[in-house]
Amino acid sequence: MISPVWHPFTQHGLGEPIPQVVRAEGAVLHLRDGSRLIDAISSWWVTTHGHCNPRIAAAIAAQAGTLDQLIFAGYTHEPAEEVARGLIDMAPRAPGQPELAHVFYSDSGSTAVEVALKMALGYWYNLGSPERHRILVMEHSYHGDTIGTMSVGARGVYNAAWAPLLFDVGTIPFPAPDAEQACLDALEAACAERPAAFIVEPLVLGAGGMLVYPPRLLQEMAAICRRHDVLFIVDEVMTGWGRTGTLFACEQAGVVPDIMAVAKGITGGAIPLAATLAIAPVFDAHVSTDRSRLFYHSSSYTANAIACAAAAANLAIWREEDVIGRIAALARGIGTRLAELARHPAFTNPRQAGTIAAIDLVATDAGYLSDLAPRLRAFFLERGLLLRPLGNTIYIMPPYCLDADQLDMIFAALAAAGERFGAQP
Ligand SMILES: *Cc1c(COP(=O)(O)O)cnc(C)c1O
Repeated sequence: MISPVWHPFTQHGLGEPIPQVVRAEGAVLHLRDGSRLIDAISSWWVTTHGHCNPRIAAAIAAQAGTLDQLIFAGYTHEPAEEVARGLIDMAPRAPGQPELAHVFYSDSGSTAVEVALKMALGYWYNLGSPERHRILVMEHSYHGDTIGTMSVGARGVYNAAWAPLLFDVGTIPFPAPDAEQACLDALEAACAERPAAFIVEPLVLGAGGMLVYPPRLLQEMAAICRRHDVLFIVDEVMTGWGRTGTLFACEQAGVVPDIMAVAKGITGGAIPLAATLAIAPVFDAHVSTDRSRLFYHSSSYTANAIACAAAAANLAIWREEDVIGRIAALARGIGTRLAELARHPAFTNPRQAGTIAAIDLVATDAGYLSDLAPRLRAFFLERGLLLRPLGNTIYIMPPYCLDADQLDMIFAALAAAGERFGAQP
């Protein structure tokens, strides 16, 4: 029977297999046919400690039998309070910079970014500067798939159908090694025109191709925004929760954003939840005895109690276990293997940020490139790996519980892909 399920980012017309997964533990997915896959991209960048982490699963089970869901307008519950306190406690801070002090919950990375944009415009609007509504973005960015987040992301085949609905933004060039100053100069010039905010993915642009740039540039971008009184929004949806080696990528630059979006790994990847953190002035701009100035945003499941309980368990894991040590060991293991792989003539441009590693495959011809990603996907699936290349960019982003044997298996398959699909010298 043909399934009625319509899958995301899936071309159903190609009839590619859609494996059914029945169980998962750690870094391993168990398929209905009895075979196993290593989840080398953490099920689309969300699973941090591993699938079905016992502490998180237990917290979900306990909460599900106590308080499942509550209207969050005018009501609250302890899991939400606890996670908010924890997030503020763990958020990036730096001397002389205002601290992130308020937490607004939502349920996906896209909504967390939408909320960030709405907060930024609400801030200027309530301060009496409604003309400050323009958003600056970085070239090649990805911030989600809703109309608003597509507007602040790169334009292309992914959103061409909705181009008429997307709002206009100012685009700052990506700071590639030969374009660092051009990026900073463009930001400086654009900030002088009094936009509302600049939104950026810190250190790694994910869906845009796992493009990396150094912390010092993030620091300079934040400084430019501060000088021009432009809100600095950081999208830590992918980079947060240890992905780049520190809990949040901003820490490596000593930067405290004015608004920060987090999601994906906030529950360890078990259940949807997102949060947008803001500094006090952004919150305060919405505080008044005038009801019309309140922050008009909500979704039915805002701060769902079960999701918050999962997040509370995740925060406890971060506080009580040596997650950073685990990440450092994994990053070292990835680093040595990536350096080895990069010597293969089929590969170029290796890059790594913590547990994220990417490398570009030099394919035989450009025409071939169009269906290279699905071919690679099938190739890796046959070898027991869940990998999802972005064009000719192959990347891994495994859960932190991945062991050395699993890492070897992944890199052996990457080398085999180079042999099979790489350009012949
Ligand atoms: C995944 C992602 C989003 C969107 O998150 P969803 O939970 O998929 O809506 C936003 N920003 C970045 C940087 C992401 O990687």
